[in-house]
Amino acid sequence: MININGKIIVSACLVGYNCKYNGGNNYHPAIAELVKKGDVILVCPEEMGGLPTPRPACEIRGGNGNDVLDGNARVVDINGRDVTAEFTKGSQKILEQALNNEVKTAVLKERSPSCGVNLIYDGTFKGIKKSGMGVLAALLDRHGVKLYSEEDSLP
Ligand code: SF4
Repeated sequence: MININGKIIVSACLVGYNCKYNGGNNYHPAIAELVKKGDVILVCPEEMGGLPTPRPACEIRGGNGNDVLDGNARVVDINGRDVTAEFTKGSQKILEQALNNEVKTAVLKERSPSCGVNLIYDGTFKGIKKSGMGVLAALLDRHGVKLYSEEDSLP
C-alpha cells in the first residue's frame, strides 16, 4: 500500500499530461484517483531537462539509470543523439524539489528511461525490456525516496 502522507512525486503523464515522447500521455485512472487524495508534485524529467514534446524516443545504452548517474552509460535518442545531459538535468531539478519538500514517496511510469522503477528498455530500440531503473528513479532511490510504478498495487 502506498503511503500518501506528505507530498508525493508523480510522473505527470500518468495523470493525463501530454508530456510523453510522442505527444500523448499514459493516463492511469487509479493514479489519477490517488493524486486527488494526496499532496502531489507532478513532474516530467525529460521536459524539465529541456527536451521538447514530441521528441524522439530515448533509451539507456550500456546500462541502467544508476550507470548513467555514475557516468558508465549514456542516454541516446533513436537518431543516436546523446541526451544524457538533458536527462540528468531534469532529474536533478526534481531531486531538489524532493529534498526541499521532504518527499518520501514517488509513483513513476514503468519502462521509461527516466521514470522506470523496475524495468527499462535495453537500448536497442527493438522493444526489448530488461530489469533496471531509469535515471530519475535511480536518483530518487539513492536519496531514500520509496518508489512505486503504476503497475504496483495501489490503495
Ligand atoms: S519522462 Fe516520465 S513523466 Fe515524462 S513522459 Fe516520460 S514517463 Fe512520463
